[in-house]
Amino acid sequence: CGIIGYTGSGEAAEVLLRGLRRLEYRGYDSAGAAIVNDGAMKVVKRAGRVDSIAPLLDGVEGSTGIAHTRWATHGKVTDGNAHPHTSCGNDLAIVHNGIVENHAELRAELEARGHVFRSETDSEVIAHLLEEALRGSKDPLRAALEVCGRLRGSYAFLAAGPALGKAILAARKDSPLVLGFADGAAYAASDVYGFVEWADDAYFMENGSVALITPEGVRAALLDGTPLEVRPVKVAFEMAT
Ligand code: GLU
Repeated sequence: CGIIGYTGSGEAAEVLLRGLRRLEYRGYDSAGAAIVNDGAMKVVKRAGRVDSIAPLLDGVEGSTGIAHTRWATHGKVTDGNAHPHTSCGNDLAIVHNGIVENHAELRAELEARGHVFRSETDSEVIAHLLEEALRGSKDPLRAALEVCGRLRGSYAFLAAGPALGKAILAARKDSPLVLGFADGAAYAASDVYGFVEWADDAYFMENGSVALITPEGVRAALLDGTPLEVRPVKVAFEMAT
């Protein structure tokens, strides 16, 4: 029920853990994170509290990553159903809030093409669809648009992994997602509380849009491909710690 992403030069594990704790008020049953480091990726996830993944992230290095707190809708509350979910090649991970209504038909189609699923969630189809789309397209933003074109339902999702280098893909339709920018770092979260202690330039993504964030900047487009001009607004950090 909460997602957060970070790419910059700091330790992603620390930023993501802190961000997840800020989003805990939204309620959840599982937590997880994927940390990307120079072509390698480490995924940790658990049913239970955010605190239960903290020891697993101890010493995990990498300055790009995504994390999730889950409120299960499809698939039991288990470690395996916790997000992130990874592609077959393990070079891509996704976190998702919402419901992919046509997950059963997408899963059947992907399995017929040889994809092997590791969870019972509706969300996992996104990882496999994106893996295919990235193979067919040099531009990650185009690949994200292609995936969104296949999804029915509601989503806010983030994708990261060696396949994307230091970039993070973000997409939203009928679930919230906000981007944040600071010097040499970019964030994405379900709400500004996830990152406002580090970044006070926020961009509330349009409903029905995709974005590609890197430590240097952002590109965004509506689901029909129309490019969007990203104009962040100032948000204030006035939260009790
Ligand atoms: N539908 C997804 C699942 O059950 C995501 C739930 C959520 O929004 O946390 O895993």
